[in-house]
Amino acid sequence: MAKLSPRESHKEVLSLLKIHNEWFANSIPLIASENVPSPAVREATISDFANRYAEGWPGERVYAGCTYIDKVEFKCIELGKKLFKAEFVDVRPISGVVANLSIYSAFSNPGDVMLAPSIPSGGHISHGKKEHSGTAGLVHGLDIEFYPFDAEEMSIDVDKTKQKVIELEKAGRTPKMAMFGGSVFLFPHPVKELANFLKGYKMFVNYDGAHVAGLIAGGQFQDPLREGADAMTMSTHKTLFGPQGGMIVSYEKYSEEIKKATFPGMTSNHHLHHMAGKAIAFAEMLEFGKKYAVQVVKNAKALAEALNSYGFGVLGEKRGFTKSHQIVVNVLSFSDGGKIEADLEKANIIVNRQLIPGDIKAGRNYFHPGGIRLGVAELTRLGMKESEMKEVARFIKKVVVDKKDKKRVAVEVKKFRKDFQKVHYCFENKLGAYEYVKLS
Ligand SMILES: *Cc1c(COP(=O)(O)O)cnc(C)c1O
Repeated sequence: MAKLSPRESHKEVLSLLKIHNEWFANSIPLIASENVPSPAVREATISDFANRYAEGWPGERVYAGCTYIDKVEFKCIELGKKLFKAEFVDVRPISGVVANLSIYSAFSNPGDVMLAPSIPSGGHISHGKKEHSGTAGLVHGLDIEFYPFDAEEMSIDVDKTKQKVIELEKAGRTPKMAMFGGSVFLFPHPVKELANFLKGYKMFVNYDGAHVAGLIAGGQFQDPLREGADAMTMSTHKTLFGPQGGMIVSYEKYSEEIKKATFPGMTSNHHLHHMAGKAIAFAEMLEFGKKYAVQVVKNAKALAEALNSYGFGVLGEKRGFTKSHQIVVNVLSFSDGGKIEADLEKANIIVNRQLIPGDIKAGRNYFHPGGIRLGVAELTRLGMKESEMKEVARFIKKVVVDKKDKKRVAVEVKKFRKDFQKVHYCFENKLGAYEYVKLS
């Protein structure tokens, strides 16, 4: 690669992009944090908005040239409010992590204690401690205390959490903030059970809906703002319809602090092509979100049940495996999560390895954890239903249990994908889901 001329290098990059698209068109994408946007959202992301600046709030910009950008952003705000039944939304955070940082900055100070889920119990690195390079600790100086977690229920333990807060208060370390939500998120968190209790200690209660925002918008998961959360942060591209980005939804009374934290605090320009894409995605979600979210949850359950019937240790069995788009599988009876992730990739099945409860105590690490995590949002958006989930489980079994030749499974996967090349739950889909758009 190093020996290529600039002209050859630019050609090589373009050709790698194209090959990547072809690979995904022939694969089973099961990364729980990913999805595929509609052609309309993709159109927004290659528009000239990508090249402009519009710092500040629409109508009060720092830059000229924002006439149409402002119209789109006002529309985006209007649609975002409607989608999440929220008094206030800020569509400018450029990612879920940036949205979390806005909330940390607006409602806490460095040195404050925050209650958050640990990573093996589903938390995200942006909620993490400084010694793990977690964003909350490293960037904002928060001192993190983990919620007690019930691994059988796969959720936060309500009684033990209350006990822990009482003890923290006695020790003079009452948290200033409580963070719900996570990256392994099978069942709703106990927001309505805990929000009032936590607010009694003057904590700001945030719900990180990065993963489940599309299910919340579709009415198929808990509704954090109605259950007592003060704000919800999210990514716009996991179960939501993209493009990659972030958002905060909250109440009018918190709007000034959040606006200032987002700009000038956390962002300068806010990636206007993605803002426009969010507006289109929210409109799609308002129109098609309920049907989509219902199917996502059905598909996740169907995949979990099929894998369980093949002897995989699907977590959360006691509660029916999942109420979200995700399932988590303990794979230790076959190998480890890292090895299985690599094997499946060779068969065109894209999943990610996952730390599961008990891994750290058993000395397993992030490279060779005990589990894999699967998400069905993208397959659902490609039009798949329960019967296809059974086929997906069969492909996984062939690789992991039957140790079939991975290249041959890849060929079968490619054939299976032939009928699922368009994005569903959108207004128009002339372009294939992974069709490469050549402009140069
Ligand atoms: C993915 C994720 C994030 C980060 O979102 P980005 O948009 O990738 O910055 C934050 N919180 C949780 C719980 C997540 O799963």
